[in-house]
Amino acid sequence: MYSIKGLGACEEVGRSGFVLDFGEKFLLDYGVKLEPNNLAYPLDVKENLKAAIISHAHLDHSGYLPYFYKSNECLSFMTQPTLEISDILWRDSLKIADLEGNEPKFSLNDITRTHKYNFVMPYKKALHLTNDTTIEFFDAGHILGSALTKITYKNESFLYTGDYKEYETQLHIGADMSVGKVDNVLIESTYGDREHPDRKKVEKALCESVQDTVERGGWAIIPAFAVGRTQEVVDILTSYNINADIYVDGMGKKVAAIYLNHADLIKNPKRLKAGFNQVKIIESSRDRKKVFNKPCVVITTSGMMKGGPVVGYAQKLFNDTNSKIHLTGYQGEETPGRMLQDTGMLPYGENGEMIKVKCKYEKYDLSAHPSQKEMLHSLKQWDPKKIFLVHGDSKVMPIFKSVIEQELGINTEILKAGKKIEF
Ligand SMILES: [Zn+2]
Ligand SMILES: [Zn+2]
Repeated sequence: MYSIKGLGACEEVGRSGFVLDFGEKFLLDYGVKLEPNNLAYPLDVKENLKAAIISHAHLDHSGYLPYFYKSNECLSFMTQPTLEISDILWRDSLKIADLEGNEPKFSLNDITRTHKYNFVMPYKKALHLTNDTTIEFFDAGHILGSALTKITYKNESFLYTGDYKEYETQLHIGADMSVGKVDNVLIESTYGDREHPDRKKVEKALCESVQDTVERGGWAIIPAFAVGRTQEVVDILTSYNINADIYVDGMGKKVAAIYLNHADLIKNPKRLKAGFNQVKIIESSRDRKKVFNKPCVVITTSGMMKGGPVVGYAQKLFNDTNSKIHLTGYQGEETPGRMLQDTGMLPYGENGEMIKVKCKYEKYDLSAHPSQKEMLHSLKQWDPKKIFLVHGDSKVMPIFKSVIEQELGINTEILKAGKKIEF
């Protein structure tokens, strides 16, 4: 009997962590979750592990790994870009903890220790970890370095999707479906209950809105995740030849350098490079003041408006009816971005009093996650005997489960935190 156990990202999005037990045990991801006033963590790992595998750099998948290495000595595997970007995010999370006066869960020493146990692995090169086990990564099309992980034990294969996107986006050609057939799939279900609007139309609408906002004398603010979304929005806006100054604030610039260093892994590196040559990078608070000299576009962290320079811009512009906040990504529950999206209100000032904003705001769905139909399309190709669902809202997962069972007739289970499912 084999089994899979949930440590986090079970009936929620965030703090991914799963233990696959093939006799030899593997940790799949170990991330954190951003909650309104603190971070939440996956359950502790009690098992004796053969290896830890990190699917991609986003903190909800990689953010707790340095804590794991306080007390573990197994090897970990990830792609080179995942390691480089995770390292930036781990170090940044220490800085944020310091700024917010919180005790961090790990130290710089723990980050160094994490590097010591890590092996980077390219895509499509199966690694024989033991006599019975091989691991292989395939491009997941979600962000730079993101991987679908195929683990084969004797004759049984298991695919962990992490976050993935089968269909192409501005930066990526989409997931590598040469994985072929597998026996079991552990799949994310972020958008398991819905379809995304046509991507090209959304990109055009975003560009038109940004141009229109500046022409009306307003500031176009685009909260964006540092990893993936910032680079994508730069690529989209500069390709569209927006006639306005475009500023990039936050960590997105540092991450862009890593994107450009791994040009072979993105769809059109030349265009992205040209885009970053056109935009103005904000390096200091003096630069930040310049932004308000004349109407312009600002792409800035954080994507869900929880912390990061975007907070300063929003506090300055929320009363300006000509300005507009363009939300572009998944807005986690109880984040300021979600509050704005659902109620038109944002927390203001030291006490975080909720106020109604007068500026415009709109959501543009540029998701790097697959839609329901897209996931059904992928699952048909993988054609597993068994499917396990993770990384989705508790309301979304039962809907997705019944759609899979109806459409594909494949037995599907929702993984629960702390529970083991045998297969
Ligand atoms: Zn992700
Ligand atoms: Zn995720």
